[in-house]
Amino acid sequence: MNQAIYTYASTISTFQDTKREDHIMQTKVKLIKKETVAEGTMAFHFAKPQGFEFRAGQFADYTLIDPPETDAEGNTRGFSLVQAPFEPDLVAATRMRDTAFKRVLKDLPIGTELKLDAPYGDFTLHKTASTPAVFIIGGIGVTPVRSMIAQASHDKTGHKITLLHASRTPADLPLKADFERLAKDNPNFIYVMVVESPTSDWRGERGRVTAEMVKKYVPDLSKPIYYLSGPEGMVKAMRQLLTDLEVNEDNIRTEEFTGY
Ligand SMILES: Cc1cc2nc3c(=O)[nH]c(=O)nc-3n(C[C@H](O)[C@H](O)[C@H](O)COP(=O)(O)OP(=O)(O)OC[C@H]3O[C@@H](n4cnc5c(N)ncnc54)[C@H](O)[C@@H]3O)c2cc1C
Repeated sequence: MNQAIYTYASTISTFQDTKREDHIMQTKVKLIKKETVAEGTMAFHFAKPQGFEFRAGQFADYTLIDPPETDAEGNTRGFSLVQAPFEPDLVAATRMRDTAFKRVLKDLPIGTELKLDAPYGDFTLHKTASTPAVFIIGGIGVTPVRSMIAQASHDKTGHKITLLHASRTPADLPLKADFERLAKDNPNFIYVMVVESPTSDWRGERGRVTAEMVKKYVPDLSKPIYYLSGPEGMVKAMRQLLTDLEVNEDNIRTEEFTGY
């Protein structure tokens, strides 16, 4: 059963700098917009319930109400909150694979209600702005990162932020337009796209994320806090790459998208 993870219930952060009790809300949310944010990848916008508060990087559990079909994976999924707390909507973005949940979600009429149980998680940006943040992310793992970088840019926190975002093709990179806009607006944010099968006119990095690539964009490897999120395989591979570079494990924070 793909019930989202409830180990975060009555969350008190394990990180001292984010320590705070979250107020979990169980409510219904209305679908207000659907859009494509990369090839085979859609974002779903929901109206934010009054009084709903969360921290950039957290996630929500969404449950379909009386769906026309279901399968063994069930009617609930956890999705990171893509928009930042200062933005108007609750947004979930996901790869549209062939499961009953995603088939139903894709075809939901605007105005449909889902159950929401949120916020959960401690995958949030560190507070000390003089410590740089480096995100090394595969594909859809970028959803909580969008929220963190948007909020830090809005608040002008001054964090130096680098995002290495890997995908198969340029068209496959979720939320590319958002990150390009954020990089234009925030001089402290560097957006590096890393694509395995680029087009001939591609101006980003080519291939997979390598140790050399990390060293190229992170001049002092000992300084930043590193953030890894997404499907388990990618998170594990990137953690290995960082430990091979002798990055202190205390400086690595991860969020695994279980269920992929
Ligand atoms: C804290 C947390 C945050 C999360 N945040 C997000 C988020 O923001 N966005 C998100 O998408 N998920 C997120 N997840 C994962 C999410 O909850 C689902 O588990 C995930 O989207 C998988 O969905 P699914 O079970 O419908 O199966 P999927 O893996 O989407 O689909 C399975 C089906 O697709 C087929 N398939 C598998 N791989 C491929 C492929 N490469 N191409 C085509 N078909 C394939 C399989 O054969 C199978 O039939 C998060 C999970 C956690 C725990």
